[in-house]
Amino acid sequence: MGASDIQGALAGGRSYLAIPGPSVVPDRVQNAMHRASPNIYAGPLIDMVETLIPDLKRVARTQAHVAIYIANGHGAWEAAFANTLAPGDTVLALITGRFGLGWAEMARAMGIEVEVIDFGRAAPIDPSRVEEALRADTGRRIKAVLATHVDTSTSALSDMPALRAAIDAAGHPALLMADCIASFACDRMEMDAWGVDIIVTGSQKGLMMPPGLGFVFFSDKAAEARRRLARVSPYWDWTLRAKPGEFYQYFFGTAPTHHLHGLRAALDMIHEEGIEAVWARHDLLARAIWAACDKWAEGGALRINMPDPRHRSRAVTALSVPAPGASDLRAWLEAHAGVTLGVGLGMAEPSDPAWHGFFRIGHMGHVNAHMVLGVLGSIEAGMAALDIPRGTGAIGAAAAVIAKG
Ligand SMILES: *Cc1c(COP(=O)(O)O)cnc(C)c1O
Repeated sequence: MGASDIQGALAGGRSYLAIPGPSVVPDRVQNAMHRASPNIYAGPLIDMVETLIPDLKRVARTQAHVAIYIANGHGAWEAAFANTLAPGDTVLALITGRFGLGWAEMARAMGIEVEVIDFGRAAPIDPSRVEEALRADTGRRIKAVLATHVDTSTSALSDMPALRAAIDAAGHPALLMADCIASFACDRMEMDAWGVDIIVTGSQKGLMMPPGLGFVFFSDKAAEARRRLARVSPYWDWTLRAKPGEFYQYFFGTAPTHHLHGLRAALDMIHEEGIEAVWARHDLLARAIWAACDKWAEGGALRINMPDPRHRSRAVTALSVPAPGASDLRAWLEAHAGVTLGVGLGMAEPSDPAWHGFFRIGHMGHVNAHMVLGVLGSIEAGMAALDIPRGTGAIGAAAAVIAKG
């Protein structure tokens, strides 16, 4: 066997998709989905779906309402607008990366006027600038403030209670809408305590599911905005989904049968561990990753995109090494370690050579210590193989965080 055969064989065994969604699906979730088609007109499925609702709300920390869509995150984005805004309404979009831009673009495409505050590609939302913008809106044209809790492209984490406080300080009635697709069940989220009116999220990140379910949590105030609209497209209307008279109204048609069984298993796993413990695990594993990255960065080429740890997501870490190092590293890990890292998003155009200088590690959902140490060790090996300059002691630093907590 030649050296290259051995190298190729190192990628065998179970592969690890360490991108920021879709995330790793636990065996328990997959096994729950592996079953004969259930009856959608009577029987256990109908009772089971009712149990999902309170357990979803416990993850969002809300007593309010939730609507489930057969959709990805983009569907949940659209559902939030469809139920609260009409063409010609204005929103204030707070941008901390590519996903915030995407949500704002969707608003524009729906005929909504969009005012933008862009905080760049390595900073969280600055609530004082939001307060200023809302104070300036004396005509109260702004109907909603759009915030990405964690922007997956930059890994920027924004402070939702501070944002709520800014809106209140301005005395502004706008709804606070949060994109929690990346942060849900990874970073602490307290919908009611933090005064968030709408949370949008999806199944394929912290919820450890395949893509295919979108969720919109909404407050009474948001429900009131829905009631004021003259017309909402029937598929997106959240009214009956959140309060169905008949089972089919949960999904406005056939229920996503197998996804629902997977979701039941995923919520069981989350609540058996406890949501506080889930957040704490994500925090510890993220700190292990940052400890390694800090060591690599010392005298090396690697850089953590978000300089201040207080503003970093615990679900994803955006990194750079000079182009084409990041693309080479991703290719090396896939070929020689069975690990797939995330591409850079929104940092450079794919046609720009600089694009090959960005990558991301996804660490959301079903992740544990050995997976994180495995990813970090594989990156260390890849940087060694590719002669990427780096500081020493990275893996030891990560292991020390895991050891000490
Ligand atoms: C993944 C993600 C989305 C998009 O979700 P899709 O399921 O790909 O539509 C939107 N916003 C954030 C913050 C995300 O992480």
